[in-house]
Amino acid sequence: MRPSILDPLFAAVTTLDGVGPRVAELLQTLLVGGGDAPVRVRDLLFHLPSSLIDRRRRAEVATAPEGSIVTLTLRIDRHQAPSRGAAKSVPYRVFGQDETGEIALTFFRGQAQWLEKLLPVGETLIVSGRVEWFNGRPSMVHPDFVLPVADAENTVLVEPVYPMTAGLSPKVLRKAVTQSLERLPALPEWIDPGIIARHTFPSFAEALRRLHDPADGVDIAPESVAFRRLAYDEFLAGQLALGLSRLRVRKAKGRALAGDGSCQAAVRAALPFQLTEAQEKAVAEIAADMAEEDRMLRLLQGDVGSGKTAVALMAMALAAEAKAQSALLAPTEILATQHFDGLSPWCAKAGLTIEILTGRDNGRARAAKLERIASGAVDIVVGTHALFQDDVDYGDLGLVVVDEQHRFGVHQRLSLTRKGRMPDLLVMTATPIPRTLVLSAFGDMDVSRLQGKPAGRKPVTTVAVPIERLDDIVGRIDAAVRQGEKIYWVCPLVEESEKSELMAAEERHRHLSAHFGGLVGLVHGRMSGEEKAAAMADFKAGRTQVVVATTVIEVGVDVPDASIIVIEHAERFGLSQLHQLRGRVGRGSKPSSCVLLYRAPLGETAKARLEIMRQTEDGFRIAEEDLRLRGEGDLLGTKQSGMPGFKVARLEHHGDLLPIARDDARLILTTDPDLSSERGQALRTLLYLFGRDEAIRLLRSG
Ligand code: ADP
Ligand code: MG
Repeated sequence: MRPSILDPLFAAVTTLDGVGPRVAELLQTLLVGGGDAPVRVRDLLFHLPSSLIDRRRRAEVATAPEGSIVTLTLRIDRHQAPSRGAAKSVPYRVFGQDETGEIALTFFRGQAQWLEKLLPVGETLIVSGRVEWFNGRPSMVHPDFVLPVADAENTVLVEPVYPMTAGLSPKVLRKAVTQSLERLPALPEWIDPGIIARHTFPSFAEALRRLHDPADGVDIAPESVAFRRLAYDEFLAGQLALGLSRLRVRKAKGRALAGDGSCQAAVRAALPFQLTEAQEKAVAEIAADMAEEDRMLRLLQGDVGSGKTAVALMAMALAAEAKAQSALLAPTEILATQHFDGLSPWCAKAGLTIEILTGRDNGRARAAKLERIASGAVDIVVGTHALFQDDVDYGDLGLVVVDEQHRFGVHQRLSLTRKGRMPDLLVMTATPIPRTLVLSAFGDMDVSRLQGKPAGRKPVTTVAVPIERLDDIVGRIDAAVRQGEKIYWVCPLVEESEKSELMAAEERHRHLSAHFGGLVGLVHGRMSGEEKAAAMADFKAGRTQVVVATTVIEVGVDVPDASIIVIEHAERFGLSQLHQLRGRVGRGSKPSSCVLLYRAPLGETAKARLEIMRQTEDGFRIAEEDLRLRGEGDLLGTKQSGMPGFKVARLEHHGDLLPIARDDARLILTTDPDLSSERGQALRTLLYLFGRDEAIRLLRSG
């Protein structure tokens, strides 16, 4: 149950003065991105100002910059009401001046009586608002405020400016925020006193007050102690929640999976290459985890083409030695098939039995497969989420390997581990997630990294070319096709709709087919799994040499002899996406190239992205740059995975606090795993505040 002390913060925003259903709807859009979730007072408090208007600095009329908000000291000279019968659009003007010049204060539909009282002729007043210049004359339309000079001292001259949504007035938002601040209860402190002292953190309530009522620009900067305090709170809540779920998973004892090394030796002998040092290290780390009673929760991070699959196979071989089955879960049918085709010959040589199960299986064939899986006759089952449907029983599932996990939702991840007796979990990801992000997304999940590519991999030459030179590129492709090369042609990512993305791909397919006839294939998201697989099989076998694709080829497709990738509208892709796409080539022995076709003019960020792509192939550097260029954003595809982003914290500014929060969370969970101490109770409050209270339910059911 939510501590009742939080009730005022969890009240609906409509309980605030001036917030009716219409404003509430706007706040819904602004604060929680639409949807049905009620907007709460808390959400307003976490909506932090992005900048501020500082009216303390006085300006002079003659030098007031166009478009800027200034505060002037004016003597009011005269009023000029629109003449009788003038159009409604003619404003009421009041002229004032200082030593440097005259300015018109402009009021549309101004009422004379009210204005005469507000701006009496002969008075000297403080007037603040936005200055605009027309034909060398300054004016200020509807000043934000007018004050007698004597009152200026007692007036707040610094105002926060909030990110807004169309239709919402800043005044209304401001009023709602002010009321929310008034509702802040005195909450018990949940941060360790030592950490508070070291970072000079204000209390939670004080931090919110400073951010919403800034005295100066430094108060709202991400580096301010107030902002950092809230970021720390959010990290701590996140780490605590991850720690709690991990604790529960750990508490449900796994099993020790250890073998005599026979299957692993057989796999080594079957592989057509030697494992690299990085692969060996990862294999050893995994083996050590699997030998433990505790469940393995390990992330295998490796750039595209770094050879994660072979590592996974070694892990699955180890499971087989321990007489347990493994499941390898891929996000798409193409990838599942590819894994199956790639692993089958190796497994055959090594004496491991492997089976594939996807949504395509049905009827008697499927029943036969299910029976083999249930009987334990199969060592390794490769497949899509079909692997975890209710009617799929395993003889003894000991290891689950998830490939390209960021494509899977949290829910799916949970359901797959329900099979078997708490199987070990190995998650492979090709997104080289920066360390800070691993921590925030997976908590202290153990990480193995495959840095660098397997030996013998050729570098990929990357060029950026404007779309105007499309004909040149087609000419070069023509030469390459004659030499038997294989080419990926990736079509623009269109955000508005999958349909237009499809149209662009079909259009390009027609265009290229006009040049290369039947040598051009097409793969897109609207095709059935079977059609896609067929198109890819044609490409792999060389029946087609050019494959036009939407981003469905982004993940994991392996055609080692493809040597050219053309990415159309490269400026629309994110950096890690470009990197993933480029990873489709350079997998074989041939020198490869990547052509980034862009449409000018390029924005700053797009320019930077293409430049980084030209400079480096190092996935980890690209990931760091990506994080820098766009903030933590959707680097992890958080939208797809349903992993909540941060409400307040900004990784690029506050990342240094994350390890501290992790260590703190660890300490808390060792000393007070039920959060029952006084501080534990306070921490429960924290979890609710940041919407991590699902972790509290774990506490109860655990
Ligand atoms: P990813 O990490 O992207 O999943 P894969 O496991 O698909 O990479 O490996 C990419 C290619 O590299 C595959 O064709 C694989 O057979 C090959 N490969 C993997 N390990 C090695 C190695 N140690 N030496 C040479 N080639 C390797
Ligand atoms: Mg892979």
